[in-house]
Amino acid sequence: MDIKKIEKIVSLCKRRGFIFQSSEIYGGLASTWDYGPLGVEMKRKIKNDWWHNIVTSRDNVVGMDAAILMHPKTWEASGHVENFHDPLVDCKHCKTRYRADHIDLDKPCERCGVKDWTEPRQFNLMFKTAIGPVEDSEDIAYLRPETAQGIFVNFSNVQATSRQKLPFGIAQIGKAFRNEITTGNFLFRTREFEQMELEFFVYPEETKKWLEYWCNERVEWFKQLGITAEKLRLRPHGEDELAHYSSACYDVEYEFPFGWSELEGIADRGTFDLDQHNRTSGKKQTYFDPVSNQHIVPAVVEASAGVDRAFLTCLVDAYHEEEVRGEKRVVLKLSPKVAPITCAVFPLVNKAGQPEKALKIVKDIRKEFGAFYDAGGSIGRRYRRQDEAGTPFGVTVDHQTMEDDTVTLRDRDTMEQVRIPADGIRQALRERLSK
Ligand code: ATP
Repeated sequence: MDIKKIEKIVSLCKRRGFIFQSSEIYGGLASTWDYGPLGVEMKRKIKNDWWHNIVTSRDNVVGMDAAILMHPKTWEASGHVENFHDPLVDCKHCKTRYRADHIDLDKPCERCGVKDWTEPRQFNLMFKTAIGPVEDSEDIAYLRPETAQGIFVNFSNVQATSRQKLPFGIAQIGKAFRNEITTGNFLFRTREFEQMELEFFVYPEETKKWLEYWCNERVEWFKQLGITAEKLRLRPHGEDELAHYSSACYDVEYEFPFGWSELEGIADRGTFDLDQHNRTSGKKQTYFDPVSNQHIVPAVVEASAGVDRAFLTCLVDAYHEEEVRGEKRVVLKLSPKVAPITCAVFPLVNKAGQPEKALKIVKDIRKEFGAFYDAGGSIGRRYRRQDEAGTPFGVTVDHQTMEDDTVTLRDRDTMEQVRIPADGIRQALRERLSK
């Protein structure tokens, strides 16, 4: 497998302004990344597409946005204080730290070749902080390790105000933090990341049906983002893998250069979370069922995806190296849905009224789509830069434009150009984006 591909993508991301290492001028902070001008556009498009697919295109899902800091009792009730651990071992010889469940402890350390392990110890993954100026056990707060609990503790608030009836969902996008023992593979495993989570509340006897429904919906979502279908799979969890709250779980996985890895977990959480919060808070988070005239605790099917992992998947899947007329071409074949810039506009030469005309076209395209003007360097170089940025379309203003008001429209993937009227550009883009 092409492990080097990830290195090439990291370097392209820096070169083009998708992703920079966090606090790079100070030597960087390990496994922490900043989204640059192109990265932030693409990330936003992924989140917007998810939000539309999960929330705004449906009658029975509503959104919310909870605070990152929550009452510490939340994490006692959810089981995170007690159970959100990973087993940690150190190599006594070279001091490298590993997740004990990620390595074979019967073999020597892969870094130094010596076999001398500490006993595995449990390590809680939550970041702890203190609220207020004095650090006291009373003032402990955690950075949330998942966005889901913000939804569970608001179940009654949201249900009562949105007047939803079972089955219905509450969705949220937001930051989560985990003090991971080992990080790596670029954006794949970091300590600060973003989640897109749906908690779908159902009658307890209907969980199996909804688990199947959401597994199917979620795989389809990744496909319509342009991800290669053959590189996606749904993997059921074995008994030994299930989290403390879950009785059935599937992972949506993608075949990365470093192997099949999880993009999203879809789990039957049963009534665990609402039961726990009912018990711990003493406040009833229940649902009045108009059919049976009883208060019930709904069960929940959760679909929990990582924004950054979806972003990395789009990049890895889109990255191609091709040979064009004896030269290497690097191109990101991103779906126009997520490409940071939809259309680049170039004057062929920097004179004869062409730049002015091109700028006018940019202004017009921007009424509907993201556009970028580039007049620097040879036209071939400008095409290559946009290929690396994943820009699906390029419009060139040339000598003929000044005579008959037509332009060329270039397709990133086929590199074919067609001549169209300048006032038909937006229509042409609309048609191509709706495919
Ligand atoms: P893993 O087994 O990879 O540690 P997990 O099973 O603990 O993941 P969940 O708790 O199911 O992950 O979290 C839901 C989603 O959040 C994951 O599918 C992933 O997309 C994202 N996610 C979780 N941890 C991280 C992380 N450290 N960095 C980036 N994304 C993450």
